[in-house]
Amino acid sequence: AKRIVVKIGTSSLVKADGAVNLASIERLAKVLCNLKNNGKEVVLVSSGAIGVGMGKLNITKRPASIAQQQAVAAVGQGELIGLYERQFAQYGISVAQLLLTRDVLLYPQSNHNVHNAFDELLKMNVIPVVNENDTVSVDELDHMTKFGDNDQLSAIVAKIIDADLLIMLSDINGFYTDNPTKNPNAKLIRTVNNLNPQILGAAGGHGTQFGTGGMVTKLKAAKRIMENNQQMILANGKNPQIIDQILQGEDVGTLFT
Ligand code: ADP
Repeated sequence: AKRIVVKIGTSSLVKADGAVNLASIERLAKVLCNLKNNGKEVVLVSSGAIGVGMGKLNITKRPASIAQQQAVAAVGQGELIGLYERQFAQYGISVAQLLLTRDVLLYPQSNHNVHNAFDELLKMNVIPVVNENDTVSVDELDHMTKFGDNDQLSAIVAKIIDADLLIMLSDINGFYTDNPTKNPNAKLIRTVNNLNPQILGAAGGHGTQFGTGGMVTKLKAAKRIMENNQQMILANGKNPQIIDQILQGEDVGTLFT
């Protein structure tokens, strides 16, 4: 795999108390910059703007109103990209911030523009850091502007740049037969070739307090990837070195193919 999209979830970036997990950003930067410096093309899709904004503003409970979420996300996004900027700079890598909206799906011209921008950025040896433009489209019900979630956004980005692999990092070792945080008998599924009703049923409901999508949105992302004949691996982002293990072909996480 040469062109890789890495998606990191809020659960991997923000600690249970809402503070940013600086150590995981540091480790992620090290791994991604190392890949970059070894000739890979890397795009990072990062959640966490609301979580980081909450920490910055000393808010402990996720704001209820959409307007407040948009405001908190706007604070957090700047902070988040600043963190990445400083961490990646240590390895001589520049970042770019791309805040996308559903325009890239609705308008061919927008899609074309974003595609070209990614191409140029990758040529310039930059790591693009992508998020949804939450100020425009944080409303979960707003299907006109919203992708839905960053899981699907990462699959859309993988399609736009024709990535070889989407690595989706979460707080769980992969996709299980049932929610493993509730069912101790749940078994890790190694490979998913077919999103049949049994698989869809295993996805359960929503995720953690800070995460948003749970497995449902990850399966929606997988569906997009599989329809496009691409591959996705869902793995635990607790230790970002897992990205190296994945690229070395080790059996970790769940492969959707
Ligand atoms: P992120 O913030 O990384 O996007 P989420 O918290 O939204 O992650 O989703 C991950 C969570 O989904 C897991 O921690 C787990 O509680 C839940 N989950 C539900 N069903 C499953 C399943 N079948 N396999 C794995 N995790 C599951």
